[in-house]
Amino acid sequence: MEVKQHERLHRDDQNLCKLAISELEDIYADLGLSIEELDLLDMPRRSFTVHFPVKMDSGKMKMFVGHRVQYNDARGPTKGGIRFHPELTLGHVMDLAFLMSLKCAVVNIPFGGAKGGVAVDPKEIKRNELEQVTRGYIHAIADYIGPFKDIPAPDVYTDEKIMVWILDEYERIKGEHAPAVVTGKPIELGGSRARSYSTSLGGIYILEEALKKTDMDKFEVSIAIQGFGNVGENAARILHERGYKVIAVSDSKGGIMNREGLDIPAVMKHKAKTGSVVDFAGATNITNEELLTCECDILVPAALSDQLTKDNAADVKAKIVLELANAPTTKEADDIFFDRKIMLIPDVLANAGGVVVSYFEWSQNLTNDYWEESRVLERLKKSMITAFNDVYSICREDNCRMRRSAYKLALKRILQAERLRGNL
Ligand code: NAD
Repeated sequence: MEVKQHERLHRDDQNLCKLAISELEDIYADLGLSIEELDLLDMPRRSFTVHFPVKMDSGKMKMFVGHRVQYNDARGPTKGGIRFHPELTLGHVMDLAFLMSLKCAVVNIPFGGAKGGVAVDPKEIKRNELEQVTRGYIHAIADYIGPFKDIPAPDVYTDEKIMVWILDEYERIKGEHAPAVVTGKPIELGGSRARSYSTSLGGIYILEEALKKTDMDKFEVSIAIQGFGNVGENAARILHERGYKVIAVSDSKGGIMNREGLDIPAVMKHKAKTGSVVDFAGATNITNEELLTCECDILVPAALSDQLTKDNAADVKAKIVLELANAPTTKEADDIFFDRKIMLIPDVLANAGGVVVSYFEWSQNLTNDYWEESRVLERLKKSMITAFNDVYSICREDNCRMRRSAYKLALKRILQAERLRGNL
């Protein structure tokens, strides 16, 4: 079971990179980039690998390998997650760091992109060993990270507890408090309010803005959501609270549907009790495949990559696809949706709410002024709506798909920052 999860997460990212890179090749040609611009985008500013010893619980020493890539810092300090994964490679971290640079630029936050981590399976080692691995990695890279250099965050298999170890180790080394060195902390140690559901809410702000561009009525639309984990469950809960009709949800065991609208708080209780949404009393069981092609206005993939493919894209009935998952749509399906005039809101925009609230966390740490939840939400809404409209206007001007518009916007912003610095 655990091994499967690893494979899934790893594959998600590989797919994300593949999709982005094939799209980017076309965009580079479209934008008519010069050789200098291509060279500048092609290489990370700094990438490094560290090896560090950890005393294991057995008393024996073991060497670990970690990487960090700071891809582009023209727009601000680099920012990106730290993952613990047994197959982590420098090349893969590099691709992910580049994608983070694009994501930060799409939502116009003053960060460049980074990524990093340690080649370790956190499920194979004890809690104390995990702490020592985290501290050993930070010890090895401490001179290269910092509130104004490079700011780590959680990623695959790293969480709030690991962010606290990162914070503590960094502060011990520097001999001073520096909460802005890492985001994704608990509120008691400088974390931001609303972070836990910021990805879902950010996506919903975007959806509401997208609906204004259509003739659909907010309270008439029907919504189907694939995935009922952190992102999918929060999305269903918030949509329900805002008066939307969520007609179908699913998890890895299958899905449920009620055309009149699901009672989401009751579904959440059912899932907490049984471990799945399946067999919920107020609905009919459906398969995940049925959910993706069901009669609905809005489809929200919020589980895995590669769900909407050439095999099912022609059968999708939704008029809007909101990609809360990373890379749920393949290139072929993307083409089919574009031809069918289905509005696809790409992951790089739709699920960027999490990184926006990370930026707010960093700002609060630097000013020591902690915001009420309402302020976080108000600022998140403004950022997401602005980003949507920035992307949408390129889409209208160039008559191209939204994914391409988002990448174009990000590349233009990064290159403009490089130009202003005199690097181009
Ligand atoms: P999660 O592990 O909390 O939840 C994943 C959900 O998908 C679970 O409900 C699981 O049962 C379900 N699932 C697994 N296999 C499935 C299948 N075959 N069919 C249908 N459902 C299936 O993960 P999450 O944090 O909610 O992330 C979901 C997606 O969103 C991932 O693609 C992730 O990369 C992306 N994402 C998450 C965040 C975040 O803040 N958590 C931010 C950006 C992007």
